Amino acid sequence: MDAQDVKNDLTEVLYTAEEIDAKIKELAAQIDRDYADKDVLLVGVLKGAVMVMADLARAMHIHAPMDWMAVSSYGSGTKSSGVVRILKDLDADLTGRHVLIVEDIIDSGLTLSWLKANLESRGPASVEICTLLRKPEAQKVEIDVKYVGMDIPNKFVVGYGLDFAENYRNLDCIGILAPHVYE
Ligand code: 5GP
Ligand code: MG
Ligand code: MG
Repeated sequence: MDAQDVKNDLTEVLYTAEEIDAKIKELAAQIDRDYADKDVLLVGVLKGAVMVMADLARAMHIHAPMDWMAVSSYGSGTKSSGVVRILKDLDADLTGRHVLIVEDIIDSGLTLSWLKANLESRGPASVEICTLLRKPEAQKVEIDVKYVGMDIPNKFVVGYGLDFAENYRNLDCIGILAPHVYE
């Protein structure tokens, strides 16, 4: 490994690129089955979900049009508050559509429960959620997440779309950031 390799900033690799790939393919197969007789619209939440979206959509065999939203969640420090502002709205009209929200990670679930309610108010036929990662906190809130890749411990993770100060999104694995990076 090169001295400049950003992987050096991880204390532990939680999931390798191969393990992520296998999990994404499992999710895609489930989604293919569930939406075999209806048209799905994938809604990605920028920027964290970019990698999940790109790989999930390519692993699917049914039509998978994609649209994107960017939201910012106000909170104190690292905790999200559930107060959300739309930075970039969808291009698509959701009336009568089967919407599948694609996320990288659910922590408190506050951002996502706001987003789900917001999309549900636009007259879609259905709104479901797919997330690659889920933290323990998320299980405490009333939010029904149909597709979950893996449940992870309550640690700050980076890679595969997930950032720390906009870095590490390009790592092909998911890992725990070494404390020396942020201390
Ligand atoms: P929630 O509203 O569920 O608490 O916030 C979820 C958002 O917080 C995610 O979309 C992500 O941007 C950020 N987040 C939560 N946990 C982590 C983590 O472990 N690592 C990184 N990089 N971002 C996280
Ligand atoms: Mg996200
Ligand atoms: Mg972030």
